[in-house]
Amino acid sequence: MEALRKGHIAVVKESESVLLACEKASLPGVITQRSCPFYGARWFLAPLKDVIHLVHGAVGCAYYGQTVRAQEYQLASTDLSEIDIISGGEKKLYRTIIKAMAEIPVAKAVLVYATCSTGLIGDDLAAVCRQAAKDSGKRVVPVDCPGFSGVSQGHGHDLSASILLEHFIGREELPDPAPYDINLVGEFDVRGDTVVIKKLLGRLGVRVICTFTGDANVTNMGWSHQAKLNILHCRRTGKVLAEEMKTKYDIPWRKVSFFGQQETSQALRDIADFSG
Ligand code: SF4
Repeated sequence: MEALRKGHIAVVKESESVLLACEKASLPGVITQRSCPFYGARWFLAPLKDVIHLVHGAVGCAYYGQTVRAQEYQLASTDLSEIDIISGGEKKLYRTIIKAMAEIPVAKAVLVYATCSTGLIGDDLAAVCRQAAKDSGKRVVPVDCPGFSGVSQGHGHDLSASILLEHFIGREELPDPAPYDINLVGEFDVRGDTVVIKKLLGRLGVRVICTFTGDANVTNMGWSHQAKLNILHCRRTGKVLAEEMKTKYDIPWRKVSFFGQQETSQALRDIADFSG
């Protein structure tokens, strides 16, 4: 076991610099000091409204994924025990999805997150989600991001972007499209900043269809393919989504910053310039 851990975990000594094994996937079941893609997915998807977020795994993963950017989000968990790990968690997952839908009937979709334990035992999330979707008539979407599946949280961000594109974006028609409709991408409304940004943009006559994901719900994500421009705020979380929307829907994107007065002023000028 020690040989397997080598490079993934290290004792920090004042006199020596330590470099962990980078760009190399973690080994399932082996403790690592690097980041967890499941949490990267939570970082991106946690704010989604009208969606049940269900963590399939031990309750510790659910507890970890509950708090994102110092904010607590409601989620459900299959709370797997040792006996579930031995005998498989698929039946429990199916029951939990159906029960969560009954508890929160207004939810329009369910996101089911994989974790290390369910990735390791090989539960077929996609098959269970397909069956639950068929039986309930609602969207049930697997988020296949166990903690060992990538080298950083970034893997979870990028996977989340693909999931939104595949299952939510472009699913509905905007009833009143306007010439200055945009999306905000990589903006998470950390301390009410989305409200301020939208207010400023509103004074320019620019309407925000969807904010990924600080103010995203099933309906406005469905409309977001009709935006004329994607404004990228956090590059690390949002760039893949902005680039994929450019490829799929031909929506151009611009990187701006709303952190600070000068940056905000420049951002508004860049958006105005783009809009002519
Ligand atoms: S998914 Fe894996 S790495 Fe992430 S919190 Fe759960 S056990 Fe830890």
